[in-house]
Amino acid sequence: MFPNSIQNLINQLSQLPDIGPRAATRLVFYLINQEQGKLDDLSSLIKNLKTEIHLCSQCFNITNKNNQLCSMCQDSKRNKEIICLVENILNIIPLEKTKQYDGLYHVLGGLISPSDGIGPDNIQIETLINRIKKSQPQIKEIIFALSPTTEGDTTALYIQRLLKPFEIKITRLGRGLSFGSDLEYIDENTLTSALLGRK
Ligand SMILES: [Zn+2]
Repeated sequence: MFPNSIQNLINQLSQLPDIGPRAATRLVFYLINQEQGKLDDLSSLIKNLKTEIHLCSQCFNITNKNNQLCSMCQDSKRNKEIICLVENILNIIPLEKTKQYDGLYHVLGGLISPSDGIGPDNIQIETLINRIKKSQPQIKEIIFALSPTTEGDTTALYIQRLLKPFEIKITRLGRGLSFGSDLEYIDENTLTSALLGRK
């Protein structure tokens, strides 16, 4: 129905999260009505997206390629004695929005899921243990902010066992998080009380 150049872009955009063929078609026709300069800017941003960034060498959050550490790890005002353990980088955003947490993070980059072929070695567990061993000042608390799912629980249990030799307080997000809920979609108020009610 459309020329190939349009149909190919619709097909590509349809594969993005939360975008179906109808939304993709609307986006493409929106783009067609934009000035060429704007399209050039957009395409160069997409083209350079991955080359401009890398992962923080300490917490595995995303950061500018010129910085070894991310802005949070570099921030001298943050509490370096607490680490909040999250599954992915997007989980940091709602936790930061609560403004109730000023410690550091550690991004696992996934959860243990044998059915998906993801084992402990495929996520950032060893780097967490090494980070704790080398930590200065010593880490005093690890908050498990993993989604309350089977994979989240499996991962938490596995890591908790490895943390036993260390004198570290282990806490989990508290009230309001029902089993199966994805941390990414939990509202700020629920997350705030879960953070304050951690135990
Ligand atoms: Zn970092």
